[in-house]
Order: sequence, then structure tokens, then C-alpha cells
Amino acid sequence: MSKDLTERFEKYADLIIKVGLNLQKGQRLMIRAPIEAVELTRALTAKAYDVGCPYVDVTFGDEELELIRFEHAPKDSFEEFPKWRVKGSIERAEQGAAFLSIAGNNPDLLKDQDPEVVALTRKVASEQSKPFSREYISNMRVSWCVISAAVAPWAARVFSNEPEHRQVDLLWDAIFQMCRLGEPDPTAAWRDHIDALERRRAYLNDKAYTALKYTAPGTDLMLGLPKGHIWKGGIDQNADGTTFVPNIPTEEVFTLPDCNRVDGMVSSTKPLNYGGTLIDNFSLTFQGGKVVGVEAETGREVLKKLTETDEGAARLGEVALVPHSSPISTVGKLFYNTLFDENASNHVALGQAYSVCLEGGEAMAPDDFARAGGNNSVTHIDFMIGSDEMDIDGILEDGSTEVVMRDGEWAFEA
Ligand code: ZN
Ligand code: ZN
Repeated sequence: MSKDLTERFEKYADLIIKVGLNLQKGQRLMIRAPIEAVELTRALTAKAYDVGCPYVDVTFGDEELELIRFEHAPKDSFEEFPKWRVKGSIERAEQGAAFLSIAGNNPDLLKDQDPEVVALTRKVASEQSKPFSREYISNMRVSWCVISAAVAPWAARVFSNEPEHRQVDLLWDAIFQMCRLGEPDPTAAWRDHIDALERRRAYLNDKAYTALKYTAPGTDLMLGLPKGHIWKGGIDQNADGTTFVPNIPTEEVFTLPDCNRVDGMVSSTKPLNYGGTLIDNFSLTFQGGKVVGVEAETGREVLKKLTETDEGAARLGEVALVPHSSPISTVGKLFYNTLFDENASNHVALGQAYSVCLEGGEAMAPDDFARAGGNNSVTHIDFMIGSDEMDIDGILEDGSTEVVMRDGEWAFEA
């Protein structure tokens, strides 16, 4: 490994341990990493011990093993799940451990496998993991962070036009750029960035707009915001009150739209990769919150099917604001990875809304959540609508209008 890469892993690890996880002296750490990320994992482990972590527990995974399972395991064995892992995570969570997940995935790994078996495996995993993933991660009881590492098959997909021996390095360059590691003091730069997100969301929460009005080429949309909506983003707090940043990088402030009050047309500004199909140059027309028109240059049928997954798949569950000048947007590539693609620009999502974005939402039954404007669905698919030509206005309770974004950038001081 080059000296340059070693130095950059040091900076990256420093950022993740100090800002991402904000790991405290005496706090244990669990890491899940792809085997390709062994050097980065070692750097992270050293940093964790340096801040006083008593034990770093690392689990390495190999995606190819998943593929081998699909190709060789008995067809009736796909409801098997290693429950002991969930129990182990809960045991560590009860001790106050922090959890780091390093994503580095081949977006095409399972593209030739039976979609029903793939769906079954995902369903089994998500159901079996719930006692940990919902009770500790989604509920923010523990500190956690998701980051990325460059791995060859992923790099090959993102940089398919570049020579093979350059692809992984180019993906690392992109990850470091998007994580602001080129700044003289990345940790300080991130604290500033997180503070700025915090001020933006406080401003928006204070305003309590009843709707946002979007204007851009191909977009003329009135998007209602429910009473009691909460803008989130950047930083969170675990059960002990220690702050952490769940995603690095992160650029968005987001909340839930009123799933019954979305009207007009919205056009995509980046392609959407859905289950291996690229849906490009598409637009959706909404009436009373529901999709009533689907147009797309490519992938129209898949997009239409997606909106028919269930009742809520034809309604919006997320609205997120990201300035056009954000580092991810500047890189200007499709990464086939939610961590980056979801943070690239202003976006909305079809499907499930986050209950934490509504006052009292976590305690509500799905029916009550829906009555308050929260969307319910098995799916949640983000797509990018932002550009340097997008204007957004906030509509106040009394009907008056204020600027939120102009030409894709924040238009208010916070
Ligand atoms: Zn989002
Ligand atoms: Zn989302």
C-alpha cells in the first residue's frame, strides 16, 4: 500500500472515530467490514484503542460467500439465519458499545439470481435482525455510523470507462473528496459542516412551513408538510445523550411530506438504479399525494411497477434538501450506493416515511401515522430532483411565502 493511502486512511479513521462515532473512553466498538477493507479496519482499530476503547470486535465479511450460497446451497435453506450474531450485537449494545458498518458492495452481485430467493433472503435477514436493528439502531439507543470503502467490483461499476488498475484508486479518491479529507483539518471541517446542518434544520423547524413549492425545468410541485413535522439531519444522540453522526458523508436535512398533499409534476435530475435497472430522465405527476402519471426515457415500466408495489409506493415518504454545491454533487457520478447517491442533491423518496420525523410519530400505530400525513409502505426509494436551476419557497401558516433555496443553493442565513 502506498504511503499516501496509509496517511489518508489515518485521517479517515480519525474522522470516523472522533466525529462519526464520537467514541468515548471506556466505550467498546463493534466493526463490520468487507475483507477488502482490512487496512482501513486496522487504522480504525488503532484509533479506537488510542481514545481509550477497551475492546474492538471486528467481523469481516466476504460478499463472494453470499454468491456462493446462492449458487450452491440447498434451495430450501434460505430461511436459515445466524441468530447468534443478533444476540451478540444486543449483548454488546447493552454494554453501551458503538457500532461501525463499512459498506463496500458489488451492486451487481446477485443480478443473475432468482429475484424471489433474493427477496426472501432480505426479508428473513430484516425480520431476524429486528430485535437489534430496530430496538438499538433505528431507535438511536446506541451510537452507530455507516461509512464506505472502495472495493474492486464496485469501483469497476462506477469507473467502467477507466483502466482496471486505476478503478479502486479513483473510487478511494472520490470517497475521500466526498468525505472532505482534502481539507487541512478534516475533523474540524466536519464539525463545522455538522453545525451548519444543525442550524439549517433548527431554522426550518422554527418556521414550520405548511408546504414547500419547487420550481425548476420540468418541475412545478407543491409539497405539503404535515403539522408536527421535524427536520432531521447530521447529528443524533444515543440513550446516554452522547452525540454521533450516523452517516459519513452526510449532506441532507430531511423530513416527511404530507402523503396526501403533494400536487404537480417533478422531474428527475439523476438516473435511478432500481434492482439492476437504470431508470433515467423520468417525471412523476401527483394529485392529492398520489402518483397519477409516470413518464421516463428509459425504465418506465420498472418505475411504474415500483409505484404499484403497494398503496404507499405511489406516495412520498421523504423530502430532503441538499445544496447543489455539496461535495457529492460536485463529483457528479452515480455511485450505485445509497450513502452517496442519496446525498447528491435535493431529493424525495417514494414509500415509507420516518416516524422520527413526526412529533410523537414513534409511538403511533401505522393508521394514526397515516392520518397525521405519514406514509406507510414496504418500500423506500430515493430519487434526485435537485439542480442549479431549482428554486424552493416555504409557505407559512398565513399563506405568505419565503425563500428557502435559489438556483439550488440555500437562500436564507442560519
Ligand atoms: Zn434522504
Ligand atoms: Zn431516503
